[in-house]
Amino acid sequence: MARQGHIGRDDRRKKDGYSKKERGKTIKASSERSLSKTKESAVKAPVYGYAAADWPVEVRVSVESDAQLQAVLDRKEVQLIYLDEAAFSDETLIDYIGTIKNSGKKAGLRLRRIETDEDKSLRSDRLLAAMAQKGERNLPDQILIRTFDEAMLVSETLNRTVKHISRVFDYTVYGYNKEAILMLRELGAEQLCMPIELNFRELQGLTEDAGMPYEVLVYGHLPMMVSANCIQRTSAQCDHQNRILKLRDRMGKEMKARCYCKYCYNQILNADPLVLYDLPGDVLALHPLAVRYDFTVESGEVVKKVLEGMVPSAMTRGHFRHGIE
Ligand SMILES: [Zn+2]
Repeated sequence: MARQGHIGRDDRRKKDGYSKKERGKTIKASSERSLSKTKESAVKAPVYGYAAADWPVEVRVSVESDAQLQAVLDRKEVQLIYLDEAAFSDETLIDYIGTIKNSGKKAGLRLRRIETDEDKSLRSDRLLAAMAQKGERNLPDQILIRTFDEAMLVSETLNRTVKHISRVFDYTVYGYNKEAILMLRELGAEQLCMPIELNFRELQGLTEDAGMPYEVLVYGHLPMMVSANCIQRTSAQCDHQNRILKLRDRMGKEMKARCYCKYCYNQILNADPLVLYDLPGDVLALHPLAVRYDFTVESGEVVKKVLEGMVPSAMTRGHFRHGIE
């Protein structure tokens, strides 16, 4: 089975890629397993990768719920928290930016995935202007831009703010070669998130060419589909609450649809999250400025486990390992 091959590889990596602390955790887990003689085959010891505290680079997370924010606020190893624009009301966003800064971390704002003409009264540039009006304390330190339209839409407002807000362009804007990166730089990009479509070798080539700092996504349920309509009912009847709906694919696997009805769009998420934090050697070979954990549908408890390095029993490598083995 693919799953078992995968665990074998992980175990092999542990010998050279992991900190002593990590090895300690794994050894402890294995001895606990051998002590429990009953159901030995049914209960698998948890596999650990790097914990957020192990990274020698900046750790960033994105959150979409109060529970997730609470789970990361007091963790010293997290240096920057992105709040998802579509997951919180404008008032809450302004408020939470202050909360994050008070906790001694940098506050980031991740813009929505789709901005339509129907959102005229709810535009990202208006939100930023409202934040600026409240004063510098309520402005984000960093903004994560997810579409070209957004880059142009917020550019004027960003140029007007007294405080510098650094612009990171997400993997959704496809900075996958030198030419694309040049164009993104003209649109104001100061940092990029590594494209999720490229494999490890392609990413290595890209970082040499780019001349721009990168963040690497090491955890998150990747979107399989995004659609600009209301999954609940017609938009006119929508209550504009955000929800998570459960769907099943043909194999019976549960997938989640994240409905951002603040703006009536939704994303169907991959059932298994992308995990790269148990491949620290490969991630660090890309010389990132930061690693990022994207939390979407996780409970606060799962957020903590992920940041402590526990590898979920079902996960995916995305394109990272394609053509490598
Ligand atoms: Zn809706």
